[in-house]
Amino acid sequence: DRIARKRDREFSEFRKRLKDADQLKLDDSAFDDATYAAIYKLVQDGHVSAIGRPISTGKEANVYEAAADGGERDVAMKVYRVNASSFRQMRDYLEGDPRFEGLRGDKKAVVLAWTRKEYANLKRAQDAGVPVPDPIAVQRNVLVMELLGEEDDAAPTLHDVHLENPETAYENVREYMRRLFRAGLVHGDLSEYNLLVWEGEIFVIDVGQAVTVHHGNADDFLERDCRNVANFFARQGVDVDADDLYDYVTEP
Ligand code: ATP
Ligand code: MN
Repeated sequence: DRIARKRDREFSEFRKRLKDADQLKLDDSAFDDATYAAIYKLVQDGHVSAIGRPISTGKEANVYEAAADGGERDVAMKVYRVNASSFRQMRDYLEGDPRFEGLRGDKKAVVLAWTRKEYANLKRAQDAGVPVPDPIAVQRNVLVMELLGEEDDAAPTLHDVHLENPETAYENVREYMRRLFRAGLVHGDLSEYNLLVWEGEIFVIDVGQAVTVHHGNADDFLERDCRNVANFFARQGVDVDADDLYDYVTEP
C-alpha cells in the first residue's frame, strides 16, 4: 500500500545518505542491508540522529561517534560485523549462559545474541555499581551507548594515560572486578585496553564477551583478567600480585 511504499522510499533514501557519508564508506563490509535497517530503526526511535566519525574499527565491530536528541547529546554506536570471522569463539562464549539458552548456532543468530549480550552485560554491570557507558539501545547488531569523552575527543584507554596515582587506580579496578564477580559476571577480556579514563574516573568497556560465573571457562577467564590487570599495575610500580587480586575478587 501507499504507506508501505513511502516507508520503503524513505528507507532507501536514508540508506543512500548513510552509504554516501564518508565515514561509512571506510568500511562497507560491516554494513549489510539489515544493518542499515537497524540503524534506520534507531534513528526513527530517536536514539540516534546523525552518525559521525569512527572511533575504532576492529575485527568484530566498529565504534562510531553519533549524535542523539537532535545533536543535544553524543553517543557511541557499536556496529558488530554480521560476518565476524570469530563467530565460533563468540558461540563458545555464549554457551552455558542461561540468558541465551536454546540459541540457534548460525552466524547471524550468534552475532545478534552477542550484541544483546553486551547490552545486557552493560546493564548488569551498571546495576552492580561498576562505571560503564550507559547502555541506551540495542537493535539487531547495533548497540548505542553513552559516549565517554567528547565529540572528536573520545576518552583514552588506561594504556594511553599517565597515571598520577596508580595505587588508587588499581584499588578502583580491583573493586570493579569484585562488583562484577558478585553480580555473576567475569569480564573475560580485561586489560588496560578495555578500561577508559574519563573525568577522573575509570570505566569498564567491551563487555560483549563477559560470561556468567556458571560458564565452564569462567574461572580461567577470571585468572587471565587478574594476570592482565596485575601485570599492568605492576609495571606502574604498584605492589600487586595476580593471585592476591584473584583472592580479593572472589572473596565471599
Ligand atoms: P577491540 O577489538 O579493539 O578491543 P572491540 O571491537 O572489542 O575493539 P571495544 O573495545 O568495545 O570494541 O571498542 C573499541 C574502542 O572504541 C575502545 O578501545 C575505545 O577506544 C572506543 N570506545 C568503545 N566504546 C566507547 C564509548 N562508549 N565511549 C568512547 N569510546 C569508546
Ligand atoms: Mn576492546
